[in-house]
Amino acid sequence: MKRSDILALYENARKNGYALGSFSPRNTVLIRAVCQAAEAKKAPVLVQISSNELRWFSLTAKEFANAFYEAVKGVTVPVVLHLDHTYDTQTVFDAIDAGFQSVMIDGSKLPYAENIAITKEVVAYAHPRDVAVEAELGNIGGADKLETGGDEALYTIPAQVPDFIEKSGCDSLAVSIGTAHGVYPVKNPKIDFERLKEIRSLTGAPLVLHGGSGLPAETVHTAIKLDGIGGIAKINIATDLELAFQKELGVTRMPNAELLKLPAADLERGVAAVQTLVEDRIENYLFSSHMA
Ligand SMILES: [Zn+2]
Repeated sequence: MKRSDILALYENARKNGYALGSFSPRNTVLIRAVCQAAEAKKAPVLVQISSNELRWFSLTAKEFANAFYEAVKGVTVPVVLHLDHTYDTQTVFDAIDAGFQSVMIDGSKLPYAENIAITKEVVAYAHPRDVAVEAELGNIGGADKLETGGDEALYTIPAQVPDFIEKSGCDSLAVSIGTAHGVYPVKNPKIDFERLKEIRSLTGAPLVLHGGSGLPAETVHTAIKLDGIGGIAKINIATDLELAFQKELGVTRMPNAELLKLPAADLERGVAAVQTLVEDRIENYLFSSHMA
């Protein structure tokens, strides 16, 4: 999918009061679960994997991309291949060369000027190749180390947002407003909606919410609708997929090659469980069903 098509998906989401789900299958088998859910619900989605996930599951960007292009054959709804949190430019460039259509460069732990510089470097490589770029300002922490580098969180400073987007040239921005990676230790995490509104008032760029696992549905809905202004256009959901798979099969985390050795019938049960979860998120969290 071309960059302009991806930007159009974001725009459509904001205009119509829904968010794109960006789902982490964490292995090559579950890419199909996300695609089947998207197809069944007629929802546009992204399939994502982060650099930490690639490392942990012993996958290369090329292997993941190949599995993706195999899984989307015959799928009629838009499915974007997205590289989630990546901290170095070389991994991003390799992923783009492997066929990723959208990438995230996470310079949020760097000083402000360095975050702009590294994002700009990725944009300079990505845009001529028709690839969309997501950046992060403020730092979204959390317990899930596969998605994030650490547990420290730092809220996005609204006043920095327009300057950052203009100078870096990024297409979309992940903001830190109180969500966290992983599953929440508390039932109702406090999300700073006033901050989100302020950010929205300062930029028209697509905004991304990370840490969508275990977030109460009404919190997600408020972040998406934002009093009719249209807030978050993409929500990352990672941990929930792996938990659904593990629960169904009674297994723990394992590298991709090891997972592929599980009995085919077990894998099918795992795919079905994750598909059910993704369909639920599309329908009840993101409002993206029938939006393709
Ligand atoms: Zn994230």
